[in-house]
Amino acid sequence: MAATATERKLLIDGEWVETGAWHEVRSPYSGEIVARVAKAGADETRRAIDAAERAMLSPLPAHKRAEILVRVAGSLGRRHEEVAQTICAEAGKPIKAARVEVARAMSTFTMAAVEARKLAGEMVPMDGSQAGAGKLAFTLRLPIGIVGAISPFNFPLNLVAHKIAPALAAGCAVVLKPASATPLSALLLAELELDAGLPPGWLNVLVGPASEIGDVLVADERVRLISFTGSGDIGWGLRERAPRKRVNLELGNATPVIVEADADLDDVAGRLAANAFSFAGQSCISIQRIYVQRAVYDGLLERFLPKVDALKVGDPADDETDVGPLIDGGAKDRVLAWIEEARAAGAEILVGGSLDGELVRPTVIAGAGPELKVSCEEVFGPVCTVTAYDTLDEAIELANGTRYGLQAGIFTASIKAALAAAQRLEFGGVTINEAPTFRADQMPYGGVKDSGNTREGPAWAVREMTEERLVVLEL
Ligand code: NAP
Repeated sequence: MAATATERKLLIDGEWVETGAWHEVRSPYSGEIVARVAKAGADETRRAIDAAERAMLSPLPAHKRAEILVRVAGSLGRRHEEVAQTICAEAGKPIKAARVEVARAMSTFTMAAVEARKLAGEMVPMDGSQAGAGKLAFTLRLPIGIVGAISPFNFPLNLVAHKIAPALAAGCAVVLKPASATPLSALLLAELELDAGLPPGWLNVLVGPASEIGDVLVADERVRLISFTGSGDIGWGLRERAPRKRVNLELGNATPVIVEADADLDDVAGRLAANAFSFAGQSCISIQRIYVQRAVYDGLLERFLPKVDALKVGDPADDETDVGPLIDGGAKDRVLAWIEEARAAGAEILVGGSLDGELVRPTVIAGAGPELKVSCEEVFGPVCTVTAYDTLDEAIELANGTRYGLQAGIFTASIKAALAAAQRLEFGGVTINEAPTFRADQMPYGGVKDSGNTREGPAWAVREMTEERLVVLEL
């Protein structure tokens, strides 16, 4: 183990628990053990659900929930660097991106506190029909019940925050299973929640075999909602297996961006370089497919490619690093194989396409046909394609030519083109003159088609995690 490696226990019913079995967390950059974490299985998962059920028998008033959420945001601010270093160590995320993630998680908790304070039902206009005359009716918004939360490796803090903060705002207890590769940020966040005064059972964190923990969350009827962020096959599979639960899915994308001839090319080139390769492309809205109007194709590449070449590849702990490792060797081999598939099919590698030490260099591919994996599947690596088009109709068709639909973007000076794209791009969100990688944490965020079936962002997630109860009063 590295000299700084730590041991972490699981959180069940407000207690830090050992199980006798351990899970090792390794640095994706050095391969060194960063920490070992107590390993949970089906028994611990059932105990966690029991604890969550007990917790919800004594509901916390909204103002207390909001106070806890605000305190967690404050702790994240005070321990900002420690939390960022944890993300960097376990995920291999460049430290400057990890610091941004911590700031974003503060925002997620702050916005969730706002939602806790204003959680309310609505009046029903009963005198609008003869049947309702003489009655008063309104709805209460009640917590849906226990939330089973399953999170991915790529935002190990903020995507956990997007589940546990709205759940507490809604008044729901949580059983959380973070990604096995990156459980340390989640456990640190759980520690901050306890320090902020969260009573036992409201948050339980389990690290261990995904299918074993997942199976219990699926089978146990007390878990009323599963909030899953990760890959499509696993997410849709969970949904099929739990037809009586709400199963909210935030899944992948093959993010397209359209660059019209009237766009500000210098601005666009900078934004594309920053948003196609950040965290080695391991963001669900990392720019993957760039469609450029033919008249400015060469002009954009002249500006874009040198910026890609200038990105610093290396140790994620280095303040200067832009692009670090992929999460593991399997991901690295898969991304290299997809680049090779494109090369073998006649596509041109304009930049990158090879390793820098053990790290995949930022790679730009031209002439990649739509059937190639780099075009139609989610790369989740530091790779993008560039393709020329003639008309906006053609660009929109190309952008829509995917089973995914999370976010897409367009750069243009024309309001008409921008609004046409906003209306016709089949995605959950469309950015105009901003990279589709943009996300502020209060936004409704989520996909259509294979990219998911829900919206996160505290206001939207709280709605999902509550149910309306109708109250009718005879006057
Ligand atoms: P993943 O392999 O699907 O894992 C996500 C989570 O699911 C992990 O906690 C994983 O646990 C767990 N899991 C795996 N098998 C399971 C099972 N049978 N039952 C229950 N849980 C199971 O995804 P990832 O590689 O961590 O993340 C990358 C994917 O997430 C990409 O597709 C990306 O686009 C997507 N993503 C989407 C969003 C969004 O908001 N739309 C945001 C970020 C990422 P283990 O780690 O223990 O295997």
